Amino acid sequence: MATVTEKFARPQVRQTQCFIGGEWVPAASGKTFETVHPATEEVVAEVAEGDKADIDAAVKAARAQFDGGEWSRMDARDRGILMSKFADLLEEEADELAALETLDNGKPIRDSRGADIPLVIDCIRYYAGWADKIQGATIPVRGEYFTYTRREPVGVVGQIIPWNFPALMVAWKWGPALAAGCTIVMKPAEQTPLTCLRMARLAQKAGIPDGVINVVPGFGPTAGAALVKHPGVDKIAFTGEGSTAKIIQREALETMKRVTFELGGKSPNIVLADADLDAAVEGAHFGLYFNQGQCCCAGSRLFVQEKMYDEFIDRLKAKNHERKLGDPFDPETEQGPQVDKAQFDKILKYIEYGKQDGAKLVTGGKRHGDEGFYIEPTLFAGVTDDMRIATDEIFGPVLSVLKFKDVDEIARRANATNFGLAAAVWSRDIAKAHRLASRLRAGTVWINCYDVFDAGAPFGGFKESGLGRELGEAGLQAYTETKTVTVSLT
Ligand code: ADP
Repeated sequence: MATVTEKFARPQVRQTQCFIGGEWVPAASGKTFETVHPATEEVVAEVAEGDKADIDAAVKAARAQFDGGEWSRMDARDRGILMSKFADLLEEEADELAALETLDNGKPIRDSRGADIPLVIDCIRYYAGWADKIQGATIPVRGEYFTYTRREPVGVVGQIIPWNFPALMVAWKWGPALAAGCTIVMKPAEQTPLTCLRMARLAQKAGIPDGVINVVPGFGPTAGAALVKHPGVDKIAFTGEGSTAKIIQREALETMKRVTFELGGKSPNIVLADADLDAAVEGAHFGLYFNQGQCCCAGSRLFVQEKMYDEFIDRLKAKNHERKLGDPFDPETEQGPQVDKAQFDKILKYIEYGKQDGAKLVTGGKRHGDEGFYIEPTLFAGVTDDMRIATDEIFGPVLSVLKFKDVDEIARRANATNFGLAAAVWSRDIAKAHRLASRLRAGTVWINCYDVFDAGAPFGGFKESGLGRELGEAGLQAYTETKTVTVSLT
């Protein structure tokens, strides 16, 4: 990952309209909405506010490319070549894209330039390599028949993404969809539409035919809902809140759309007493405070084995005191503001719940500064399983630390949640760590590390944390249909 040393300048905002059939157009209604820099609360752009009519136009454009258009006739290898060109253009513009992400989302430039954008490029390159390797099988059936399968693109896909990793979520969605040969209508989050629009422009420059990728910025209950209901859409891929997914699931069922969901979590991060203390403290801190705590897989239930508990709290406390909050364009800044006022208020409410429920506030607990949506890195000790800060997803820089005695107990308590996105185990006894990993009901388990992502490694949730997987070959399969062809040999 790239290390950032210099201070970044504010980027120019170039794309603010809907991108439909290769044209940049205002919303049919003429409406716009504001997007805000969360560090200063100033408006940085007015963005087209798409709704049903714009979604309809975008689906038409996507259908035209899918139903016999240039994209549908293109050799798979050529699709891969265009995707590689797209990745190259993203790389050429990595500095600017990172700055745009920081402007729109507020995340520190060291993260957007060091992690988000490199992961975006890697994901598009990874899936570019898949485009001509999506194979079927030949199947030995009874009788004089030859039977084979084809993996065909699922069709026009509607993609709805959140604001916490705006550009990376674009890559996770576009990479497999393009490799499989699908066409796309995306609705980015209303808080963070800018990098998605810029990426659409770069895809166009790379030569991906007009109409293959369409972007309609706007709000969930209007533009998002129109996309979910549209009969011309074959699949919905959604990342966001479970409550929204349940609404989408019901709507999508009407037209039997395929769905994949990547939802929330309350991930257990488990430190056994034989863990490497320095590494575990580092991993516990990073696993929660990274991205201002706005990660679906945040290690927000930190379980520390009794013997190590007090020292662990002291070490976490010291780390929180050192954490640098400030201007996200400054390379020294480790923590930026929360994305908006609604999130900021929700987090402060949970901090109050923590105090009311009897947890011990060790650090933070309030707003940082008087401008922007900053919240101090907050640490609660003495947390018990039933407290609201231990059961609910907070999506902010609030770490709850719980104590446990033995491995059987922790396997049970870690799984006592409706979520199942991620988990981690810290131990020097690697056999013990593997055994515990196999007992954890989560889509991803990290051992002696946290938040390690790779485009090749499937990611998604057990239980109410999701449906289906993204990334890797599993992520690609979610964008294909299997067709069986049987030929008589007589
Ligand atoms: P988050 O808390 O991560 O923002 P949401 O589920 O509210 O989670 O939002 C994720 C995405 O889903 C955003 O792009 C939002 O606009 C969209 N969205 C919200 N409500 C709906 C809905 N009823 N139908 C379709 N999309 C929606």
